[in-house]
Amino acid sequence: MIAYLECFVSESRPDDGVSSLSKALGLQGTVVDFGGEAGRDFGGMKSFPPLAFIRPAGADDVARVVKAAARSSNLTVAARGNGHSINGQAMADRGLVLDMRSLGEHFRVVRAGDGSVYADVSGGALWEDVLKRCVFEYRMTPRSWTDYLSLTVGGTLSNAGVSGQAFRYGPQTSNVTELEVVTGKGEIFNCSETENSELFFGALGGLGQFGIITRARLLLQPAPDMVRWIRLVYTEFDDFTRDAELLVTRQDDGGDSFDYVEGFAFVNSNNPADGRPSVPLDPQETFDPAHLPPTSGPILYCLELAHHYRNTDRSSTVDTGVNGLLGGLGFVEELKFQLDLSYVEFLLRVKRAEEHAKANGIWDAPHPWLNMFVSKSDIADFDRTVFKKILKDGIGGPMLVYPLRRSKWDTRTSVVLPESEIFYIVALLRFTPPYPKGPSAENLVAQNQEIIQYCTRKGFDFKLYLPHYRSQEDWKRHFGNDQWSRFVERKTCFDPMAILAPGQKIFSRVPQP
Ligand code: FAD
Repeated sequence: MIAYLECFVSESRPDDGVSSLSKALGLQGTVVDFGGEAGRDFGGMKSFPPLAFIRPAGADDVARVVKAAARSSNLTVAARGNGHSINGQAMADRGLVLDMRSLGEHFRVVRAGDGSVYADVSGGALWEDVLKRCVFEYRMTPRSWTDYLSLTVGGTLSNAGVSGQAFRYGPQTSNVTELEVVTGKGEIFNCSETENSELFFGALGGLGQFGIITRARLLLQPAPDMVRWIRLVYTEFDDFTRDAELLVTRQDDGGDSFDYVEGFAFVNSNNPADGRPSVPLDPQETFDPAHLPPTSGPILYCLELAHHYRNTDRSSTVDTGVNGLLGGLGFVEELKFQLDLSYVEFLLRVKRAEEHAKANGIWDAPHPWLNMFVSKSDIADFDRTVFKKILKDGIGGPMLVYPLRRSKWDTRTSVVLPESEIFYIVALLRFTPPYPKGPSAENLVAQNQEIIQYCTRKGFDFKLYLPHYRSQEDWKRHFGNDQWSRFVERKTCFDPMAILAPGQKIFSRVPQP
């Protein structure tokens, strides 16, 4: 069989290659084709056709493929979740790509003796499907989300998984108690905080470097029925950050807070994509700029909040609760927008934006996105230069900026964070509409580099989220000495031939003689 794989590597492809390769690997699943979507991703800027795109039926198939690659001279294996990476992270240049979504649902609710409830889900499950099953069948829900849910469980757990609940519950990596992982040696392990813990913590935020997550156990809690979704406008960054930080820390002093806290910067213009019209939640509402003080600058800020409640709650009780939470905040009183919707509709809110973007042809255009974590101590300087100068005309999409708390993250995972307790996620979610033609994706990537270089030059305490580097030196700097040593040790232990996730470009495949 290895000889068979090698013949693919040497570019001679038999006509019946797809089914023969499937048989040669002894798969329950199938080989789909020799390229197609596996050579593309959401970023739309990289293209590395694989040797084969394989649909494993389960962890055993994943293990067979990894073992076959290990016996070949230089094949690599990439798990592809939903391919929503930006820089080719889920690709394998002339390697084997696994379509993790084909693993099937494997959905099971588990109740522990102490009353805790968990869902066992496939590593290839889409979060939107996990949401629907948990809520519609069990009235339960995972605690921590991403903004957009057409992402896979294994894909986000390999990074972190961050949204407006993370200030309270930590990222998704802090809300999983057990994994099933296939290592780079093709071994299948269950792992948790107490069993094979190095593999467990290594795989969480591990950029796919130590193993392929085939199952995850997620902590659940009772699901609310409804959400009051609120947006508040600020003209001054200081006021915005003071209130955002107050809301993400208030529970420490025994106070109550919202169930979701996010924020974004937007342009003080009429641009529908990233200007004032992007703020109202209800299509009936409009943003009246007459309410802005005359001193308002080119960039404004919006705090985005959500309050959960039950169908049985009276609306006056919800109003009183929300007004209590809003008391003392310094937003522009007349620029408050709100909408009541079901919990599931709220969590699927970006799906509506996706449908709109697909209709406008901008979903499939390149996405030169930049995601970073910037320490609280540097965020005002970041705002002055990056938002107010470099990005003062907007980016054609959302510019997220909201605080997170380091103490809610488990530093035993592979994720790298700034040093300070409060740091901000900054996500520049650039869209490049075909009409009217704007700057090229290359120019926008160059602007991202300018922002990174500015932060580096100023000595900011920052890290890239969903990182992408070209050289190992850059990766070492990203991790810092101690975390890099731990990362390399874990690699040596779990994937010594560097077979897994080659698209991250951290390690090179160790050739087999
Ligand atoms: P892929 O892009 O397919 O894979 C990502 C990496 O993980 C690759 O290296 C791949 O090899 C590896 N991998 C995939 N599956 C597995 C597995 N089962 N086991 C081990 N390794 C695996 N992120 C947030 O944190 N918060 C957000 O709110 C958020 N919103 C987003 C909105 C959009 C529209 C998009 C496009 C991305 C968003 N992201 C967000 C980023 C997202 O979390 C990452 O891009 C994630 O990697 C994408 O998931 P995926 O399932 O498509 O993974």
